[in-house]
Amino acid sequence: MTTHQGKGICPGIAFGTVYLLQKADTAIQQTPGGTPDQEWTRFLAAKAKADGQLKQLFEKTAAELGEEQAMIIDVQRLMLEDGDFNDAVQQMIQTEQVSAPYAVSQAGKQFSDFFAALDDPYMRARATDVSDLSQRLTDILLGRRHSHAFTGPTVVVAEDLTPSETLQMDRAHIAAFVIRLGSSNSHTAILAQTMGIPCVIQTDIPLDPAIDGREIIVDGTGGLCYLEPDQIVREKMAQWRQEARLRQESLDGLRGLPTATKSGQTVRLFANIGGTQDIQSVLEHDAEGVGLFRSEFSYLGRSDYPTEAELFAVYRRVAEAMGGRQVIIRTLDMGADKKVDYFDLDQEENPALGLRGIRICIDRPEIFRTQLRAIYRASAFGNIAIMFPMITSLWEVIHCKEQAAAIRRELTAEGLPIRDVALGIMIETPAAVMVADALAKEVDFFSVGTNDLTQYTLAIDRQNHKLDRFYDPHHPAVLAMLQIVADSARDNGIWAGICGELAADPAVTATLLNMGFDELSVAPASVLEMRKRIRDMD
Ligand code: PEP
Ligand code: MG
Repeated sequence: MTTHQGKGICPGIAFGTVYLLQKADTAIQQTPGGTPDQEWTRFLAAKAKADGQLKQLFEKTAAELGEEQAMIIDVQRLMLEDGDFNDAVQQMIQTEQVSAPYAVSQAGKQFSDFFAALDDPYMRARATDVSDLSQRLTDILLGRRHSHAFTGPTVVVAEDLTPSETLQMDRAHIAAFVIRLGSSNSHTAILAQTMGIPCVIQTDIPLDPAIDGREIIVDGTGGLCYLEPDQIVREKMAQWRQEARLRQESLDGLRGLPTATKSGQTVRLFANIGGTQDIQSVLEHDAEGVGLFRSEFSYLGRSDYPTEAELFAVYRRVAEAMGGRQVIIRTLDMGADKKVDYFDLDQEENPALGLRGIRICIDRPEIFRTQLRAIYRASAFGNIAIMFPMITSLWEVIHCKEQAAAIRRELTAEGLPIRDVALGIMIETPAAVMVADALAKEVDFFSVGTNDLTQYTLAIDRQNHKLDRFYDPHHPAVLAMLQIVADSARDNGIWAGICGELAADPAVTATLLNMGFDELSVAPASVLEMRKRIRDMD
C-alpha cells in the first residue's frame, strides 16, 4: 500500500480502480514493435474494436440524449473508414517504418489541423471528432482504457482535468477524482462538487502507467488516497463510509421542512446544477429551486454548437422536472477555463480578463439569440428565470434586456406560448458591486458569484493552484462588497442571493444571513446540511 496526501475538496469515501488519464501524446513510442505488416494488422484490429465501441456508444447516447446528439458518434464511425485517413496511417507505417499508435496520432494531428483551418464552421468543428477518434485508436493500441468506457467504480487519476474532459466521461461509473494539480476554485472542482463525487487535488500520486487498473481508496474529506490499500485501511474506510451514509440519512427528515432560523428568518435554499443529469440529486436533496444552472456545460464536450431544439429540450426537461420551483438559467458563461474548439476563441494573454461570459454573447448575437429563444420557449413548461454572467456595466444589462424583449416579441409573433421570465444578473465583478444601486433598478434579482468576485477583487487567478493560500473569500474586501450588494438590493426592492461556493461555507452562514441575503444556492448534496445549519441558528 502507498498513501498519498493531497487536498480534499469534495467529501466522501470512494472505493474503486484507477483509470489513469493520459493525454493523447504521452507515452507513444515511435519505434515499431513489429514489422510494418504486423503494425498494420494491429491497426486494423484496433479499428475494428473502435468501431464496436462507437456502435455501443451510439446506442447509449441515442437512448440517453437523443438521435441528434448521437449523430456526432456516427460521424466518428464514418471517419474511421475514411480512405485518406487510412492511407495516411498505412503510408507512415510502411514507408516511415513507425509504430501503429505513432502513425495514428500523427495522422490524427494532420487531419485535425486540416479541419481546424477550414472556413466552414461545420467542417472546422470536425477537428475535435478527428482528435477524439485518434485518441480512441491510440488508447486501444496502447492497451489503455478510453474514458467513455468505464466498467465498475472508477477513480480518475490525472495530472489536470478540464471541465470539458470531465463532462465527456462516463459519470455513471466515476467514484472519485484524483488530480495532481488542480485548484479548489476551478470549474472541474465545482463540477465534482455538483456531482457529489469525492475529489482530491494537489496530490503526489505518481502518474505511472503501472497504477492503471489498481485498487484505490479515496478519502475526499481528509484528502488522502490509498493505492492498493491494506486490510486495516480497507476496514477503516468502509466504516467511515458507513458513518457518512448514516449522517446523510439522519438529514432525510429535513426534507419538506422550511429553511428558517429559530427566530423566523427564512432563506430560499436553492441548488446549483450543470445539466439535466443533476436534477435527480436536486430533487432527492429537496432543494427549493435551481439557483444557478451553469448552462455553458451543455456547450462543452461536444464538437459543434447545440441547436435551439437541443437546448430547448434540455431547459424544458429541467423546468418540468422542477415542477413549479424556480429554475434560474445563467446564459452561457464561456471563456477562461471553459473553452471548446468550435467557438474559435483567440488565445489570450489573460483569459480571465478576456472575451468571456456576457461579452461573448454581446459579441456574437447569433449564439445569444439561439439560447434566449430556447429558454423563452421552455418558459411555458415551468418557472424559469434568466441571469446574465460577468456584468460590469449598466449598458450591458440594458442591451441584454433589449435582446430578451426582442426574442419575446418574436416568439409571440410566431404564436409560441411563453411565460413571464424574471431577469437577473450575476454580481461577480467589483465594477458591478460599485454600480449595484443603478443595476438593481434594471433587474429583478442579484446573484453573487463569489468565486469570480473573490478572483477579481483580490487579483488572484482562481485557476492557479499555487495561489490557493492567497485566495480568500473571507477577505474583508470581499465581505464589504457583499454587504454593498445586499444593501443595494434591499434599497431597490429586489432580492439578492449567493450562488458561488461561499454560499455553502458554514463559517459565514450567519454573516450572510445578517447581511440580508435572501437566497443561497449550493451543490445539491449540501442542501440538507445547510438546512440543518440554518434551522439550528437563533
Ligand atoms: C462564481 O463566479 O461564483 C459563479 C457562481 O460562477 P462560476 O463559478 O461558474 O464562474
Ligand atoms: Mg463566475
